[in-house]
Amino acid sequence: MPVLFAGHGSPMNAIEDNNYSRTWKKMADRIPKPEVILSVSAHWYTKGTKIMNADNPKTIYDMFGFPDELYEVTYNTAGSTRMAEISKKLISRETKFDNSWGIDHGTWSVLVHMYPDRDVPVFQISIDADAPPETHYKIGKELRTLREQGVLLFGTGNIVHNLRRIDWDKAGEGFDWANEFDDFIYENIIHKNHEKILKFKEIGNIARLAVPTPDHFYPLLYALGASDENDTIHVYNKSCELGSMSMTAYLWE
Ligand code: ZN
Repeated sequence: MPVLFAGHGSPMNAIEDNNYSRTWKKMADRIPKPEVILSVSAHWYTKGTKIMNADNPKTIYDMFGFPDELYEVTYNTAGSTRMAEISKKLISRETKFDNSWGIDHGTWSVLVHMYPDRDVPVFQISIDADAPPETHYKIGKELRTLREQGVLLFGTGNIVHNLRRIDWDKAGEGFDWANEFDDFIYENIIHKNHEKILKFKEIGNIARLAVPTPDHFYPLLYALGASDENDTIHVYNKSCELGSMSMTAYLWE
């Protein structure tokens, strides 16, 4: 199976028919249908690494102040206790099964477009907020063999994500620093320079503006870790939105 990272952006993308949502559908049409989806979402940001192993994870509405229509979206698929169990064995650090969370909007706002029939089982693994970039990358690497078992590893976040700098007049545009950081990551993904991505903080001010907190950035590291040297890389939605959010998506296959 391929590996996917998508910039999910505003939860409204779940119910909008726009360039991003249409591209997500196109990506699903391009790749083989997964047997299971393992999502690492920016929105399950925890102390320690948790693995969801419920038979039927609930849909979570972890966003506030949006129209009612968005809270009526459900993404009720089966989970995968089997793949959760296998993941737990593959990850070398301590992990815990935890079903206090569910399928959050980072996951469902994209998957409603990719797999609208809700017929692919989905489970999530959380992001340990205290772990350094190398740890997230390593977990992705350890999970790589799931690809051979029909699992789509899906990281969902935003490479640039600074809500304090959002500019509503900049629809479809990014600030210079946002574009610059998005380009820096792009170059290093294309040239498979993962070390530079893990040390993103070293580029200074641009990184501080683009990644004020790493929750939306870290899902990329799981996808990078799970990618293989021989993968072909496809880039989608390469752009910034509202000044300070990158919508860029990557597919390794
Ligand atoms: Zn988000």
